[in-house]
Amino acid sequence: MRLLPMDLNADLHAHSTVSDGTLDPAALVERAKAQGVELFALTDHDEVRGLAAARAAADRLGLAFVAGVEVSVTFANHTVHILGLGVDETSAQLRDGLARVRAGRMRRAQEMADGLAKAGIDGALDGALKYAGNLDLVSRTHFARYIVERGFASETREVFGRYLTEGKPGYVPHKWAGLRDAVAWITAAGGVPIIAHPGRYKLTPTELWALFSEFREAGGVALEVATSAHTREQIRRFTEHALEFGFEGSRGSDFHGPKESHAELGQVHAVPDGLTPVWHRFV
Ligand code: AMP
Ligand code: MN
Ligand code: MN
Ligand code: MN
Repeated sequence: MRLLPMDLNADLHAHSTVSDGTLDPAALVERAKAQGVELFALTDHDEVRGLAAARAAADRLGLAFVAGVEVSVTFANHTVHILGLGVDETSAQLRDGLARVRAGRMRRAQEMADGLAKAGIDGALDGALKYAGNLDLVSRTHFARYIVERGFASETREVFGRYLTEGKPGYVPHKWAGLRDAVAWITAAGGVPIIAHPGRYKLTPTELWALFSEFREAGGVALEVATSAHTREQIRRFTEHALEFGFEGSRGSDFHGPKESHAELGQVHAVPDGLTPVWHRFV
C-alpha cells in the first residue's frame, strides 16, 4: 500500500490529437497505463474536448485521471503556458475563455503560411491542416510536421529554430489570454493553476519574478518544476523559487507523441523532497 502521494508516478502534462499530440485521447491514456503512470492528466492546449474520451479510457483501465488544460497566455510580450488541473470541463467560464483564446489561430495559421511561402515553402496551410486533428487548434507543431515532411528539416525541433520562432519566416506574433484571465477561468472551473515549464521562457530575472508574483496574487498554486524541458539544475532552481513563493510542485512529461518528445510518459525526474506535490489534491 502506498502512504505518500509523492510515491505515485504522476504525469500531469500531456497532449493528444485534440491539440498538437499524435495519439488520440484513448490511445494516449492506454500508453500512459502501459508505461506505468499511476495518475494521469490530459492537458491539451486551449481545449477540453478530449477529456471525456480520455476519462472513459482511464476508467476502463483503472488509471486515476485528472482533467486538465494548458492555456496559452501572453505575459510581458512573452508566451507563457498555464496548466489547469482538476478542472470541470463543463464550466461555462472556462469554455468561453478557451474559445476566445482559440479564435485567432486559423488567421494566424494563414499568416504563417504566407511567411513560409515567401521563404520557399509552399502549401503550408493545407500541409499543416492535414496534421491537425482539430481545426480549431492549428498549432506551430502541425506546421513543423509538414516542413519535415517536405524535407526542409529532419526533425521538428530543428524546424522551430529555423522557421517558427521569433524573427523567423513562419513566426507570427500573437496575443493569447491575459495571465489573470487564464487563472480566473481555471479557478472558476474548480481547477488548480500551475505555471508550465518555467525554464522555457526567455524572461529576465525581473520579469520571472513579476510572473511568479502576479500569478500568486491571482490565485496561482504551483510551478511545474519536474518536466522534460528542465535540466536537473533547473529543477533545483525552480524548486527554490516555489518554496520562496509558497507554491507547490508539479510533474509532467509534456509528451506529444512517441517520436516527438523529450520524454516518454511517466519518465520525468521526481519533484524534490521538501516541496509539496500538487497532486496531493487529487489522490
Ligand atoms: P503554438 O501554440 O501554435 O504556438 O505552438 C506551441 C507548441 O509548439 C508547443 O506546445 C510545443 O509543442 C511546440 N514547440 C514550441 N517550441 C518548440 C521547440 N523549440 N521545439 C519543439 N517544439 C516546440
Ligand atoms: Mn504543444
Ligand atoms: Mn507548453
Ligand atoms: Mn504542453
